[in-house]
Amino acid sequence: LVRLSGVNKWFGDLHVLQDIDLDIARGEVVVVIGPSGSGKSTLCRAINRLEPIEKGEITIDGDRLPDEGKQLARLRADVGMVFQSFNLFAHKTILENVTLGPIKVRKQSKADAEKRARELLDRVGVSAQADKYPAQLSGGQQQRVAIARALAMEPKVMLFDEPTSALDPEMINEVLDVMVGLAGDGMTMVVVTHEMGFARRAANRVVFMDGGRIVETAEPEAFFTNPQSDRAKDFLSKIL
Ligand code: ATP
Ligand code: MG
Repeated sequence: LVRLSGVNKWFGDLHVLQDIDLDIARGEVVVVIGPSGSGKSTLCRAINRLEPIEKGEITIDGDRLPDEGKQLARLRADVGMVFQSFNLFAHKTILENVTLGPIKVRKQSKADAEKRARELLDRVGVSAQADKYPAQLSGGQQQRVAIARALAMEPKVMLFDEPTSALDPEMINEVLDVMVGLAGDGMTMVVVTHEMGFARRAANRVVFMDGGRIVETAEPEAFFTNPQSDRAKDFLSKIL
């Protein structure tokens, strides 16, 4: 569904993505881990062209991602993204946050968008908050709204960049549970996270990055119990 071939990106002299090849099948959940600065966020941002790449190709469902233009907007709408910071629109209600994209980009009627938004808010467990503003919600609730907002666009793939790192510990699981549910429903997901429990529960594959490269790819159990590369062993010894 998502294919990266020979992807390279530089920030000035800094070669942040080096010859990345990655194929993500429909319904697959890929967890990306690696040390700080290894290029995980840049990889996510490249997948929906928040960052241009200098070399290589990224296709989504067979369509090559163009650098700009109408087609880019359409393809980008197929890629849902959830960030570490919840970035909800502060001056819009929870319901409006979720309906805005579908109405503007997907050209849904307000009634249809609201009906769908309420279903999604219910699914992530915040339907009671629909008419409140983001600041009135806990971090965990806001992040679940951010997930509902991304889902409202009916994306083909969902990218999560450290979705729980900004949360208090007691709120992490409520967000991870939503993500595990989503994985169980067959959503294609790329998840940058340090939550190894999530990787074990939900990932089909773990991709370990270091220095802008994919150093190792393996099934979660195999990766955690028997990492092959010294760099992965070293990384795991520090975080586990
Ligand atoms: P972290 O775990 O800290 O989030 P990461 O793996 O997500 O790290 P990236 O944010 O992708 O790493 O950054 C990869 C490298 O690119 C780092 O060296 C970073 O300093 C650099 N970098 C990221 N964004 C920019 C930018 N806009 N301009 C210049 N350098 C950047
Ligand atoms: Mg990052």
